[in-house]
Amino acid sequence: MKIDVLTLFPEMFTPVTEASMLGRAVRSGILEIGLHNIRDYTQDKHNRTDDYPFGGGGGMVQMADPIFRALEGIGAEGKKILYMSPRGRIIDQQMLEEFADREDLVILCGHYEGVDQRVLDHWDAEEVSIGDYILTGGELPAMVLIDAVARLIPGVLGNAASAMDESIYSGLLEHPQYTQPRMYRDMPVPEVLTSGDHRKIHLWKFRQSLELTAQRRPQMLLEFAEKKGGELDREEKRLLDSTLQAYDL
Ligand code: SAM
Repeated sequence: MKIDVLTLFPEMFTPVTEASMLGRAVRSGILEIGLHNIRDYTQDKHNRTDDYPFGGGGGMVQMADPIFRALEGIGAEGKKILYMSPRGRIIDQQMLEEFADREDLVILCGHYEGVDQRVLDHWDAEEVSIGDYILTGGELPAMVLIDAVARLIPGVLGNAASAMDESIYSGLLEHPQYTQPRMYRDMPVPEVLTSGDHRKIHLWKFRQSLELTAQRRPQMLLEFAEKKGGELDREEKRLLDSTLQAYDL
């Protein structure tokens, strides 16, 4: 997969894209990340990329021309273009799966008051948000998106099963996790996890997931019951039903 990023601050990305799982994916060639500085495409003699908004209002707006030239320069025609924006659809796992299925993505990061609307209209850019709060620029949201998409590309995670088990992806929030030592200070690991009984361990984890989801994301539990209730075995179904009942769902 190739992800091209258009930004005024490409240097913000490298600490993230060169480290850890993303760094490995890039080095192994599974993922290619192209960082493009919008300023390199300006024809303004002072290298300006922004100007005052028509109609007044505070702040500056990123001009269309350098962004048009950058998009043309990287060959973005026909590719899916995302504009990181608090006005956009909030990213969820389903959206990420759609993005991860593509061979190319182009991500435009805004700054100041955002970009000239003609960029978005002409290039049919989809606005995507990482949540209902405002950041200074689209770089951190773009990194969130890249990290979350990359995890879904086959071969990026060491253990292929692990993406499927995560909170949200499985339709439930994840159960608590423990590691060595078995006793830390006076806090033991739940006994069942060291029992070696795989069925018991599975049901314990499932029950913990159900409880957490009922407490924190009841709507998610209802959707899980509707979509996946039919795939459960008898014992799992019993646990699901008793959780729904206990939480009045
Ligand atoms: N004036 C814009 C508005 O009210 O919608 C906000 C501009 S914001 C200060 C600057 C840039 O940060 C935006 O163009 C966008 O690229 C990025 N940004 C800020 N918050 C974001 C969010 N929640 N999700 C995605 N991108 C965000």
